[in-house]
Parts: sequence; C-alpha cells; structure tokens
Amino acid sequence: MSNYTKEIGEVLRALKVEASGLEISNEIIGRRVITRVTTENGCLRKSSLARPDERRSSEINRLVKKNLYRLLVESAGVEEVPYGIMHGVRPTKIIQRWLREGFGVTSHGVIDRDKIVRRLMSDFLTERDKAQLLTEVALRQVPIIKRGEKKISVYVGIPFCKTRCLYCSFPSNVLPAEEVVENFMRALRRDVEAAAEAIERYGLEVETIYIGGGTPSALPEKFFAAMMELVHEKFWSAGVEEFTVECGRPDTITAEKISVMKKFSVTRVSVNPQTMHERTLEIIGRKHSVADVIRAFNQLRAAGIWQINMDLIIGLPGERLNDFKETLEKILELAPDDVTIHSLAIKRGSRLQKRLSDELNTLEDFNLPGDEEVRLMSEHAAKILRGENFYPYYLYRQGYMSGQIENVGWCRRGAEGIYNVEIMGERQTIIGVGAAASTKVPDHAAWKIWTAFNAKDLKTYMNDLERYITRREEILAQVYGGVEQ
Ligand code: SF4
Repeated sequence: MSNYTKEIGEVLRALKVEASGLEISNEIIGRRVITRVTTENGCLRKSSLARPDERRSSEINRLVKKNLYRLLVESAGVEEVPYGIMHGVRPTKIIQRWLREGFGVTSHGVIDRDKIVRRLMSDFLTERDKAQLLTEVALRQVPIIKRGEKKISVYVGIPFCKTRCLYCSFPSNVLPAEEVVENFMRALRRDVEAAAEAIERYGLEVETIYIGGGTPSALPEKFFAAMMELVHEKFWSAGVEEFTVECGRPDTITAEKISVMKKFSVTRVSVNPQTMHERTLEIIGRKHSVADVIRAFNQLRAAGIWQINMDLIIGLPGERLNDFKETLEKILELAPDDVTIHSLAIKRGSRLQKRLSDELNTLEDFNLPGDEEVRLMSEHAAKILRGENFYPYYLYRQGYMSGQIENVGWCRRGAEGIYNVEIMGERQTIIGVGAAASTKVPDHAAWKIWTAFNAKDLKTYMNDLERYITRREEILAQVYGGVEQ
C-alpha cells in the first residue's frame, strides 16, 4: 500500500473490504487527486479536484477517500454505508466551522439548510437522511456553543463500577478495597484543589460540572458524600447552569445519595438502563434488574431532580427490532427528559472484543443483530422520539459501531445537556480532574486545542498526579496566562 494508509484504511474498514489483493495508489497533480485500484481483473481509476476554499492537505486526504470509496461502490459493487467517507467522532463540528466561515449563510444572515445538506452529500457521500440529521443537530447547537472564552466546564472522573459490562472500554475498575478508594479520594482532593486554584487565578467561570466515570454513584455512601461535597465546595457557584452526575447503574442509586445530590444542587442525573430486558442485562453483565431502573427513576423524580437522562443501546446481543421497541416503550412510560440512543460498538479494551480476538467466542455466539436491523432500530427510535416531542441535539460516532450509524442524544425542548454539546463542539475549555479525565483548552487565536490527559490507569493516576497537574497548569497558562510554551 502507498501513502495515505490511514485514509485508505478508514474507507476499507467502513466498507468491510479486505485490503489483500488490492493495489491502491494515489497521484497528486496540483489540486487534482487521481486514485488507482489494481486487482487481478484490471485497473480502476478515479480523479477529483480539490476545493480551492479548503486547506489543501485535508482536501487531498478527503479526495483520496472519496475516490477510493466511489471506485469500490460504483465499479466493484460494494454496498454503500450511511456516513460515506465521514469517519470522525464529531461530525457536527464540520458544519459549525462552515457556518463560522459563512458557508450556508445568506447575505441576510439566513441559514440555507439545503445547501449544507447538499455539500455534506457531495463532499462526504453521506446519505441524505444522515446529512439532514447532522445539519439539524449542528444548527440546534449553535446557540449553546457560543459561549464566552472565560466560561468553562469541569469534568470529574470517578473510575469505579460495580461490575464490568461486556462492551465496556472505559478505564473503569470494579470497586476496590476501602483503602484504595481512600487513596483515590486523597488524590482527587489534591487534583480538585489545584484545578480550583487555576480557575480562580485566571478568573474563569464554571458553567457546567459533569461527574462521570465509571459510575460515580458506585462509590460507597460516605465516599460519595465526601466527593460531592468537595466538588460542590470547589467548583459550584450560582453561575453554574448545569450540574450532572452519572448514576448509570440504577442499583447504585440510594435514597441517601439522592439527598446528597439534592443538597449539593445537582440538576441532571443519568440513569442508564441500556435495555429493559432481563435476559440481555444478564448477558451484558449489568447485574441490575429492570425493576431497579424503574425504582431508581421514580425515586429521583420524587426527589425533584430536574432533568433525568436515560441511555439505551441498540444492537445488543440477542436483541431484535421488537425487543428494542419494547424497551423504548417502557422507557417512555417513565417520561425521561433526555434519551441517548447508542449503537453497540465492539471497542478495543472491552471484554467483548477480547473474547473475540482470543477466539473464546465467535460473533455468532453473541447473536448480534445485523447492520440492517440496527438501522431499523435507529429509524424506529427517531420516529417514536420525534412523535413524543424529543429532538436530536448532540451526536457522535465511534469506530466499529453496529449499523455504522451514530450515537444521538434526544431531549425535550429546554432539556439539552449543555456539557454534552460543549464537549462535542470543542470550543469551550474543559478542565478534567480525576482518573482518565482530559483537559482541553481551545486557543481560538492560534486555531489549536491544547490537551492534557490524566492517566487511565488508577495506580498511575495516583502515583504521577503532580505530573498531570503540572501539564494542566502549563496549557492553562498558555491560553489564559499569556505564557509561551
Ligand atoms: S457502567 Fe459504564 S463505565 Fe461501568 S462498566 Fe458499564 S459501560 Fe463501563
């Protein structure tokens, strides 16, 4: 294989085409990209011209992908995929950039949706309904993403869960001995205090706080209360618009934890059933019941938690369209404010992927629904949710997703998870504390995003914490303190 290995790999993986037996080459002449694919049956050739209004290098990469995709689909009969050659995690960012540059905005300031949809279809070969979905989501995010540079979000990473889900690739640990949790809490305190000092030093205003993981509510009562108190004391102020706690596993939600969350002004909680079928919960290793979901939800509602999000997954082992329909119906009976529909991804680091790569199981053993069925589930979700007055407000994609579709957050009007939008937009500073947390500081003047990552591994995070704090301080100083790196 010649150059552009990454771009070629992305197309071949998306189209599920084996590279062996193919010789792929690209020739660049000025703004023209010529792609040739040679097989034992002969040579195919496609040529495209780069747009003059885009950065040349990214245009060349895009055309390498576009030429190859079109050759395989049009001349070799390979089946198209919904997102064409769009492979990034945050596709709506492309539209937001176009809007900032004035593309799709008329001279009267009116947004021309059709023009954006047409360009997505032509530049990235997406299906029309995906181009329309992306455009809808991107436009809904515009008023949320436009925030002042001093407004920031804070992410707190609590890396514990009660058990590990079959598909989980997060750096989550099954809750360890009390002594280890105590050590983690000590490290977290130091991390939080250092971040809070930096926030004060640079006059930053915390707009949203998001406690994720893991499952933060997996912490035993006393640690949960101490963690909440610490986060509230150091980051909360009357200016905080949204304070989210992920309580993904409903069996970790207790009356005591709910009252702690109320006390510390939490506005949004995630309860994640994933499915409302007991047999699937058992297969995926969730170790909670459908009754736990209903009990936890009702307890949160009764306590007056303003906004409740629920995550569902389509494409789970053994499930078909009718199973998903039942799940969605049961979820909507509870009337959540926000529903995120994920498509199962077989990610590196998950037990699922490991069992497959170690050949302990085959894909057939897990009885996964096919891509077409997963797409039907997604279409069903969209139809039902729209009928219930939900609209899509954030979207992201991952590698190896069933159906090659997307994860979409749906909410009722006014219930948008602001943090979800900000993290996808990458326009706002997000300060990360805790294990596996990342800090991202966009430098708008330099068109750059500075990043600092806390270790995913719990031990490394605790041992090397000072190093992570120093790196975070450096990138904050770079943007807010006028310090050159
Ligand atoms: S609840 Fe979430 S973080 Fe915890 S094991 Fe399951 S997928 Fe991973």
